Amino acid sequence: PGTPPKPQQKAKQPSSPPLPRQNSKTTPPSPPKIITDAGRSLQFQRVGFLGEGGFARVYEVKDVRGTRLACKVVTKDSLKTKKAKTKLYAEIKIHRFLAHPNIVRFQDCFEDDQNVYMTLELCQSGSLMDMLRRRRRFQEAEARYFMTQLIGACHYMHTHQVIHRDLKLGNLFLDINMNIKVGDFGLAALIENPGERKKTICGTPNYIAPEVLFDTANGHSFEVDTWSIGVILYTLVVGRPPFQTKDVKDIYKRIRDNVYEFPSERTPSHDARDLIQQILTPDPQQRPTLHEIVDHPFFTMGIVPAFIPQSAHDSIPDYR
Ligand code: ADP
Repeated sequence: PGTPPKPQQKAKQPSSPPLPRQNSKTTPPSPPKIITDAGRSLQFQRVGFLGEGGFARVYEVKDVRGTRLACKVVTKDSLKTKKAKTKLYAEIKIHRFLAHPNIVRFQDCFEDDQNVYMTLELCQSGSLMDMLRRRRRFQEAEARYFMTQLIGACHYMHTHQVIHRDLKLGNLFLDINMNIKVGDFGLAALIENPGERKKTICGTPNYIAPEVLFDTANGHSFEVDTWSIGVILYTLVVGRPPFQTKDVKDIYKRIRDNVYEFPSERTPSHDARDLIQQILTPDPQQRPTLHEIVDHPFFTMGIVPAFIPQSAHDSIPDYR
């Protein structure tokens, strides 16, 4: 392995929350207060702002019946390049056919002169990233609950030939009942031929699998999501990602050399550490399958809460 190549997309600094746009010149105009899907003769009232990502802004909207939804808005100005258009079409093509209780439901997409709109299931309780910031770390029982839902969603995606490629706490949304909803299919890939390998270097530094960075000749496949699942499990129980450092290059070096430690204080249980170590195996072929992961004693020997109370947003529930 040589020097890590530069990811083409989303090479954000680790753990830096998106900053509010500072320069008003770069702020696109807000979408209309009443968003119209002319083709279906539907109207949505814009009632709030939910957040923004790399290329979209997401609003809370209400349809005529009063049902609340999320509406992801991409300005047509940002879709001038062929690359940007291809990326958005791929996101829509993949997301719209996925239907699983732990995946953000895609409802419709439409456009007007200014924007492309995607209406999505509303996740009212923010992301696991927001919740971790408040809680600092999770109980292992909670981690089992969230991980079981995430792995279920990931298994569904993989059996439908979809690799998400950007699984991270910020893309795991929560609905009102604290169920995980995997979102943001902006980097997802569809495997159309069995055995096909993907070559685009993409992901988010802390969560990128080593083969994405260092085995560019061979490419990567479904196992990159398994790697991110290992990084997510570590982050939930320790409170920070395993390979995190200030410099992105150093993160890649640590990923390449498989260098991470468990803190000596409040170290995770033996089963949690063992499972994390198994998942964070550099060779993708040696990584456990999703079935093997849920069969690990971390899941089979520990309690999984039936539900997570709303109070868990800010304080530690008692799961005994
Ligand atoms: P991008 O593709 O530009 O990265 P995301 O899909 O990550 O955009 O969305 C940006 C932000 O909008 C998210 O971080 C989140 O705060 C909010 N968001 C996205 N989808 C939803 C949703 N379905 N429900 C509630 N909030 C959402």
